[in-house]
Amino acid sequence: MSTSDAAPLALIVHAHPEPRSFSTAQMTTAAQALREAGYRVDVLDLYADAWAPTLARDDFPSVEGHFKPQAEQMRAVREGTLDATVQAHLDRLLAADLLVLSFPMWWFSLPAILKGWVDRVFAMGAVFGGDHGLFENAALAGKQAMLLFTTGAPSEMFQPGVFGPMDDFLFHIHRGMLEFVGYRVLDPVVTYGPAHMTDQERAAALETVRESVTLIAADPASRDASLV
Ligand SMILES: Cc1cc2nc3c(=O)[nH]c(=O)nc-3n(C[C@H](O)[C@H](O)[C@H](O)COP(=O)(O)OP(=O)(O)OC[C@H]3O[C@@H](n4cnc5c(N)ncnc54)[C@H](O)[C@@H]3O)c2cc1C
Repeated sequence: MSTSDAAPLALIVHAHPEPRSFSTAQMTTAAQALREAGYRVDVLDLYADAWAPTLARDDFPSVEGHFKPQAEQMRAVREGTLDATVQAHLDRLLAADLLVLSFPMWWFSLPAILKGWVDRVFAMGAVFGGDHGLFENAALAGKQAMLLFTTGAPSEMFQPGVFGPMDDFLFHIHRGMLEFVGYRVLDPVVTYGPAHMTDQERAAALETVRESVTLIAADPASRDASLV
């Protein structure tokens, strides 16, 4: 399918420090599947771009005294003085119809560099709060988001009585970050334990990723995480 400016835009935010990783191959596969399904695809590679993950005082040079991060985000959004890199990433986020967070699971969560991207770019006043509400009243309502990730452990470990159900680990991301700012969250695409697979199994896993992403692109409602 050919793409045009009218085509939906996917923003993939990728967080793996190794370009030859399986996670990076998975991201590349997903990007290709989205392009073939008619999406325009924008990729933000946080490690390659040396993204600075800390939400700190120096994002807001005029602050004196007690630093209140969310109050400063609100003020910077209102006055148009957000850090230039944060503003550029925020513009890319706001332009996208679909957000894909791509990462290896670290400590049952996001790698810190990606969590720090959320800390700085999901700015109060820009994507929630201020003129926006929360959840369905937040700025990204009407858009979709999904997680694309790998694990070290096999799927059997993510069961009650072992690690616990995967949905429990993802709740803080799905509900606390993505739905919080308005996204409808799609079912995640996960490759469990690629490091323990044979080359043939990894090739098959990438094909499964391609098929899953193609299905999502064709019919996002069929993969709504709240329905599974
Ligand atoms: C700090 C930290 C915390 C962690 N916490 C958790 C946790 O809480 N839960 C958990 O389950 N795991 C955890 N892990 C493990 C981590 O999730 C896995 O190591 C990671 O998800 C594996 O994916 P990868 O892309 O890094 O694999 P890689 O090791 O990069 O890749 C696996 C194999 O795939 C090969 N490969 C790369 N590209 C291709 C391709 N195109 N085709 C075929 N093969 C390819 C690579 O050469 C390699 O042999 C943690 C790891 C760290 C560092």
